[in-house]
Amino acid sequence: MSLRRAVKCATGQDVYTCHACFDCEIPHMNDMDLPLGSLIQMILQDDEEALGTRTLWSDSALYAARGACKRGLDIYAVMLALREESKRRNGGAPHPKI
Ligand code: SF4
Repeated sequence: MSLRRAVKCATGQDVYTCHACFDCEIPHMNDMDLPLGSLIQMILQDDEEALGTRTLWSDSALYAARGACKRGLDIYAVMLALREESKRRNGGAPHPKI
């Protein structure tokens, strides 16, 4: 199952609605390695590396993601679904890189 489909099944959120406008920029935090918009683009490209990004597992990024997308994508829900998908693919562990 693609990352996009896994997220859609879990949340109803379709990252296909992302227009790569990058208006979801949040202040950079030390435990982030890429912007939220880039994380969403990785999901669109079904890039499994998204599951090992520090941004995905950053709680500060997670909470800052609430309402960050001005186009209505619930990035908070998307990130939680991605974390669960990562655990599912790694036998319950968050991710080998984390
Ligand atoms: S603000 Fe929303 S539509 Fe724009 S890049 Fe971020 S997630 Fe995508």
